Amino acid sequence: MAKNKPNINFKALEAKSIMELDACTRCGECEDICPTRDATDDIDVAPRSKIDRWRQYINRNYGLKAKLFGPKPVEPEEIEKFRDDLYTCTTCGSCKEVCPVNIDTVELWESLRQNLVLAGEGPYGKQAKFSEILEKYQNPYMEEKEERVNWIPEDIAIEEEAEIAYFTGCTASLRMRTVAAAAMRILNDLEIPFTYLGEDEECCGSVLLRTGQYRQPGEENEQERIVRKMTERNVQRLKDRGVKKVLFSCAGCFRTALLDWEEVIGEEIDLQFVHISQFLADVIREGDIEWSEDWDEDMTVTYHDPCHLRLDLEIFEDPRYVYESIPGINLVEMERSHNLSRCCGAGGGVKAGIPEVAGNSAETRCRDALETGADMVSSACPFCRLNLGDGIKSLMESGEIEEGRLEAEDLVIITAKAMGLKTTLNGDEPEETEEEAEEKEAEAEE
Ligand code: SF4
Ligand code: SF4
Ligand code: SF4
Repeated sequence: MAKNKPNINFKALEAKSIMELDACTRCGECEDICPTRDATDDIDVAPRSKIDRWRQYINRNYGLKAKLFGPKPVEPEEIEKFRDDLYTCTTCGSCKEVCPVNIDTVELWESLRQNLVLAGEGPYGKQAKFSEILEKYQNPYMEEKEERVNWIPEDIAIEEEAEIAYFTGCTASLRMRTVAAAAMRILNDLEIPFTYLGEDEECCGSVLLRTGQYRQPGEENEQERIVRKMTERNVQRLKDRGVKKVLFSCAGCFRTALLDWEEVIGEEIDLQFVHISQFLADVIREGDIEWSEDWDEDMTVTYHDPCHLRLDLEIFEDPRYVYESIPGINLVEMERSHNLSRCCGAGGGVKAGIPEVAGNSAETRCRDALETGADMVSSACPFCRLNLGDGIKSLMESGEIEEGRLEAEDLVIITAKAMGLKTTLNGDEPEETEEEAEEKEAEAEE
């Protein structure tokens, strides 16, 4: 009787990741810390189960029994469930933090995603459209280029060329514009000339990088070409404007520029990348910020560490230093903070691909904040701010909290307010709500 052939492979896995699969002791430390396991109440979403299953699939296809009696194929429904579980992950890295044998789980999840994409089994749902959308719009929100600039208030001065650039990222320039405007007004107030790529700024590429659609073995594929082109254009345009230092308010863009861009374009990038929380902490230390005499707020704030500042980068103290320096702010910590902070649930393509998981996770993180007695949960990333704001909204809608009990705000906005700067856009109109944005997205997709 003819033997079956293996129906899975591990082409996209580095030798290190294959060895790490074997190193898992099944201790289960990673299960309780995983935010998406919490949000789904499905133990299969937790790291241990995913590692266990992939190890079994490899054994069934390539182990001793497979060699003697032929591989036992992985059934399509097993692969489908595995794919769903693998993508129900924000790549927050909490499992990596607690793993006693130091498995680099984030690298493993991204490699396994790459492997599924290579086999035609991934990515997940809407994420498959990311490359087409980025090719056409250069942002994942499907907005036209002019949307990156047509909101900029007239009072803000932006130079054509400068040594410092402010990189808004897609979320701040297209969805959380008050954050971008606040950062720009802070720079103006400090008399620091800066430039902004505006219509020429493109997505940092993280949406493809984090969903396994990048770093495929073999020839450059379509997704890799799109990320490389966007990165090359961003870098070249920054250099053309004489930029030496780039400030980011989005933690995800900052991390991607810092850790991925050189590999993406295959050359050294002579630019310094700085997160706005680091920049603000420095100017406060130098005594360059003056707090407004009209700022007389008295509030308790709890800080949510964005995964992208936490994981590998460990930027914990600079944002906290900024809050602690602002008069009237009492900073309190959530039980899970710093390297053990609980992710808000939006990253890794989850908000776009599985919004209900992002929503449940955000609610849980807001409950963490409520336990501290804080009036405000604040983060140093507009994407966290967006998701935490949605979490508060759903807690209010379900009647769990009263309106006004908890607010979500970005570090940059609080700083600008305490400096006495305006934090609205032109006029006093409110920003587009998440629902309005989603409606526009749905219309654009039709
Ligand atoms: S990276 Fe975060 S969401 Fe993903 S499995 Fe680990 S703990 Fe869970
Ligand atoms: S914590 Fe590490 S060793 Fe323990 S089950 Fe999770 S991945 Fe395996
Ligand atoms: S939005 Fe912030 S907390 Fe949420 S997944 Fe991204 S970095 Fe993590």
